Amino acid sequence: MSKRTGIVWFGQDLRVGDHPALAAAVRQCEQVLCVYIHAPEELSGWQPGGASRWWLHHALADLGASLRARGGRLVLLRGPTEQSLRQAIRRSGAGSIYWNERYEPAVRRRDASLRRRLEFDGLDVQVFPGSLLHDPQTLLNKQGKPYQVFTSFWKSFLSQGRVRKPVSAPRRQNAPQKQPEGVSLASLDLLPRPDWAEGIDRTWEPSEAAAQRKLQSFVKRNVVSYGEMRDRPDREGVSRLSPYLHFGQISPVQVWQAVQDRYKDSGSDERASVETYLREIGWREFAYHLLVYFPHTTDRPLRESFRRFGWRRNRRWLRAWQQGKTGYPMVDAAMRQLWHTGWMHNRMRMVVASFLTKHLLIPWQDGAAWFWDTLVDADLASNTLGWQWTAGCGADAAPYYRIFNPVTQGRKFDPEGAYVRCWVPELVKLPSKYIHAPREAPAEVLQEAGVRVGQDYPEPIVEHRQAREKALRAYEKIKGGGARTHAGFGPM
Ligand code: FAD
Repeated sequence: MSKRTGIVWFGQDLRVGDHPALAAAVRQCEQVLCVYIHAPEELSGWQPGGASRWWLHHALADLGASLRARGGRLVLLRGPTEQSLRQAIRRSGAGSIYWNERYEPAVRRRDASLRRRLEFDGLDVQVFPGSLLHDPQTLLNKQGKPYQVFTSFWKSFLSQGRVRKPVSAPRRQNAPQKQPEGVSLASLDLLPRPDWAEGIDRTWEPSEAAAQRKLQSFVKRNVVSYGEMRDRPDREGVSRLSPYLHFGQISPVQVWQAVQDRYKDSGSDERASVETYLREIGWREFAYHLLVYFPHTTDRPLRESFRRFGWRRNRRWLRAWQQGKTGYPMVDAAMRQLWHTGWMHNRMRMVVASFLTKHLLIPWQDGAAWFWDTLVDADLASNTLGWQWTAGCGADAAPYYRIFNPVTQGRKFDPEGAYVRCWVPELVKLPSKYIHAPREAPAEVLQEAGVRVGQDYPEPIVEHRQAREKALRAYEKIKGGGARTHAGFGPM
């Protein structure tokens, strides 16, 4: 075994810039073998959904091209992970393995035991924090327990001091002479057949360079108005960096640094907006903190009393929600945006999740599963937090009685109806006054707009007021033990 040859094992860090594991390997070894191991069956049921697989395909192709341009190569292998990694070690004669840490429960378990076994065999294993601003296990409250309230978590995070500087991408690297053969990207079969991803294809450019361009343009133009615009799905007010962050085509350290560098000396208004944006990056950190300490929450509510909550499966309503046919234009626009582009605005994620779990009383897990399959940024930590937060059963959750009224939300955050018109073409000719509640429009207005409610566009599948009252009654039944959380927390 030679320490002159090192292996970099890529996972959810499909980039060359600010890649601590790659940078260390290139610095310490004469030859570096880069591998990606495809082992979805090791993810305990959380294998990438359809939209994520599409993204993964393109991200691997892009990473392969970047490494080739530096004199390296990305070798694709199929799982089981340990077997493939050992084959790569044998074939290349590597003495060191480098990777960036991952935090999904099944991956953490696998990687921790793999690391122990490799070290036992005398290999030098180096693991780096590459996908978060901080190690999610380091922050605990005064009682030595994990945080469950974002504000205290964030205060503690900010008091820890500075975020590290990004590391540069290696200019050149040498690949070892002997490498495992690897499999082709096509053989991983990640792209959908038949091809339903046309809308996603038109919307996104899943490369590291595109992530950097998006970041630069957002930092230059939009971050200073983020505080004001971030709740407007009808505007370009948010960064849309989430899939790049999920697949590690950009690191949160790069985002943090780009924003701080440009606005460190700004006036208070600009600073406030910039800080609001950085807090959102903080929510991502919080999501990972929760995932590490409460790994069961991917499937079960954090607040124990919600295990008794009266959610009920309803296939017909679930289907109407998935297809954007609920009769509530804001909900339908958002669900169609998701289906066509693989992404949905954060405000709309809250509205549709609230509608599913509170208006329809369908279990949040059903909604989370649909998001998992259709989002290009599907992320176990953030998706779990988002769903549990909205359903009222998670950390720092929205109070249960806060039930978004989709009509009011539409009038407030899409006042001219541009968002609805973009995704619900049946309603394109309705005047703004009625676009969020077509049923309230007088007959002649509907006729002029060519809308027959119940035919061209559905009647609401539930009445807001009745649905709200039913949800509140369901909540009354479990009230009392609401704040208690699962007792057995602890990092694995
Ligand atoms: P911006 O507003 O530009 O924010 C910048 C970055 O901060 C985001 O890219 C994201 O990484 C992070 N961020 C922002 N808001 C949140 C948040 N509430 N929680 C965690 N991180 C946040 N985000 C995912 O990345 N993957 C998911 O699977 C996911 N599922 C969600 C499900 C529900 C029900 C809800 C309510 C939210 C979910 N979110 C998820 C969080 C959030 O909606 C998205 O991160 C955001 O909309 C992505 O768009 P953006 O990159 O333009 O965000």
